[in-house]
Amino acid sequence: MLKIALPSPLRRLFDYLPSQATPPCGWQPGLRVRVPFGRREVVGVIVELAEHSELPRSQLRAISETLDDAPLPADWLWLCRFAARYYQHSLGDTLHHAMPARLRQGHPMAGRTQTLWLAQGEDTDATLSRAPKQAELYTLLRQHPHGLPSRAVSAHGFTRDQLLALVKKGLAVSQEIILTAPEPQSGNLLAAPALPLNREQASALAALHEKLDGYHPCLLEGVTGSGKTEVYLQLIEAVVAKGKQSLVLVPEIGLTPQTLARFRSRFRVPVVALHSGLTDPERLDVWEAAASGRALIIIGTRSAIFTPLANPGTIIVDEEHDGSYKQHDGLRYHARDLAVARAHYHKIPLLMGSATPSLESLHQALSGAYRHLRLTQRPSRHPPAKLELIDLRHQRRQGGLLPGAIKAIKNTLASGKQVLIFINRRGFAPTLACHACGWMAECGQCDARMTLHRQPALLACHHCDSRRALPDACPECGSGDLRALGSGTERTEETLQTLFPKTTIHRIDRDSTRRKDSFEQVLKEIQRGEPCVLVGTQMLAKGHHLPHVTLVVVVNADGGLYAADFRALEHSAQLLEQVAGRAGRAAHPGRVLVQTLHPDDPHLGQLAEHGYGALARNMLEERRIAQLPPFCFMALLRIESPKEEAALALAQQAAQALRQWLKETGVATRCLGPVPAPMERRQNRYHLHVMLAADKRSQLHPAVSWLVQWLEANREARKVRWSIDIDPQTL
Ligand code: ADP
Ligand code: ZN
Ligand code: ZN
Repeated sequence: MLKIALPSPLRRLFDYLPSQATPPCGWQPGLRVRVPFGRREVVGVIVELAEHSELPRSQLRAISETLDDAPLPADWLWLCRFAARYYQHSLGDTLHHAMPARLRQGHPMAGRTQTLWLAQGEDTDATLSRAPKQAELYTLLRQHPHGLPSRAVSAHGFTRDQLLALVKKGLAVSQEIILTAPEPQSGNLLAAPALPLNREQASALAALHEKLDGYHPCLLEGVTGSGKTEVYLQLIEAVVAKGKQSLVLVPEIGLTPQTLARFRSRFRVPVVALHSGLTDPERLDVWEAAASGRALIIIGTRSAIFTPLANPGTIIVDEEHDGSYKQHDGLRYHARDLAVARAHYHKIPLLMGSATPSLESLHQALSGAYRHLRLTQRPSRHPPAKLELIDLRHQRRQGGLLPGAIKAIKNTLASGKQVLIFINRRGFAPTLACHACGWMAECGQCDARMTLHRQPALLACHHCDSRRALPDACPECGSGDLRALGSGTERTEETLQTLFPKTTIHRIDRDSTRRKDSFEQVLKEIQRGEPCVLVGTQMLAKGHHLPHVTLVVVVNADGGLYAADFRALEHSAQLLEQVAGRAGRAAHPGRVLVQTLHPDDPHLGQLAEHGYGALARNMLEERRIAQLPPFCFMALLRIESPKEEAALALAQQAAQALRQWLKETGVATRCLGPVPAPMERRQNRYHLHVMLAADKRSQLHPAVSWLVQWLEANREARKVRWSIDIDPQTL
């Protein structure tokens, strides 16, 4: 009897009988099978072999087909089981999302052979002059003297028929190659020499070299631009030299062609990347290359943590504090936390790097659970610039900018340098208001104001994406005196263009970079170094090396200061420090102007005066006193429904039942709520939270697990949407 995980939200396995045909490896956990499920057929994974089923044999159905000759990688299966248990999620759903789409759809695991296409001969008779597509393809093949795999050819938009036509004309040949794991490396692994390290980098690397075997979690706290990446590269070099693999996680925003190029140009060994631009077959290729051990360096964003590794040597998590490591729906995992679990399982070192570490990781480092390495200096010698706070109160602004900021921009441009303006809001203005009666444009579906956009002109809700035409007159009082309130990127761009008509203003936000590659184009232009102004949102704030920027202006720093979410301050301080880190990274020192309505705020003051590191240690102390994470562990039950009463009734019942259970069992977990979510109504659905908190993880998980079972058994719970978020990052 086989216990099989199926793509279903139900937190259980399903029993099936084996088919007649036993797979060559015998029945084993990790084999994909196709099974009848209701009236459909679905792809599932065998998780256990069992003697008995709770169902009578007559009710058991047999699997229809085995899809693999050998089980999927054991380390991958382990991680999925761990994640499902830890996050209290359905294992079937976890496995389903953690495998490449091709495997999910039932396709075979990629083979070990590959067809390569090569150009040959010369088109002496100009036979291609009347076949422009074939001519293009021929040129493409000639640019790749080592041959192109079929998939790459089709990824360039060419068909198999076009290939065969070239073959017929004697201008191309195909070649089958067997893909093998690399030979144990000998000779030089490096394509480009490593940089000579400064003293701090060298001592960090020496400490890492000492512990290349066994589980050693380590936090590398290094100011922006201090050369953390160079330390990663040289750690990887040592791991590659042992013939082992390195898995490198980077934030969504960090996986740029520049980052990849930096890794690829350093090493002679295969570097593969997992990013959203891959086709499904390419993704499967990368998976297979990692699972077989062929790829020695694997770089990817959040979901890359689920890449199987034949021969793991280290895991590196760059910018470990970054919000993109947390998945916000389905399996709500945190890739950094799974990296910790995984490194422990593989018994390998884990390196987490950041200029602005999360309070969770910093706490582990300060308490000695993680090793703590620090880089306090930049190779460029210019320390990160201090933040200069400037008071927004009682001052006239143009496009959100104070006269002092405008003057600094002018001076910077005059000295031939670049300016970065950071503004947290895209669009023209945060809202549209009536000057006669005070009406403001609100979203009909959310508890939120609508953002005014000029290109194209409309009102848009950034929470539910609903759009509305601009009203000609106030819908409340009929007045025509409607005004844009506040500034977004579009307005600041417009103002700057008026103030500096001869200067190029680049706006970089989700609206301006919708076209694929347009962001890359702009970045390239910026790297050339002409004086210009960049106006951008978060997209610009992190990761990018902008050597010519010497002035950074933060239009408004107040977002996280007095927010309801206790993590808002941490996240906002991280963002400010990262933005500030864009200034003066190369040969010239930088300046950072921060506009604020709260120039006397002690947290902001500390950030400005002593930097994120000092503020973070202070925030940790405040969290300790308030008994908040990382000094306690949290889980969130989110309940949502179009009907407010239904959501509230279930939330109340759930909280009450849980409190009763906690009292009876003595499990030391606190239950708070229900409370409305910070934005209670979103997309016409009502959102409520029940919060669980415990001083020990061992007390939290049984409580969550009981609550999940209660919800699964509850009829009312089927009428609303609910989910569990372990270690929630936002409320
Ligand atoms: P971080 O990852 O800490 O933000 P990077 O690794 O991107 O910093 O380094 C910032 C800049 O400093 C890069 O241009 C990098 O090439 C350069 N750099 C790093 N280490 C050294 C070194 N030891 N000597 C000279 N330049 C270095
Ligand atoms: Zn009005
Ligand atoms: Zn909305």
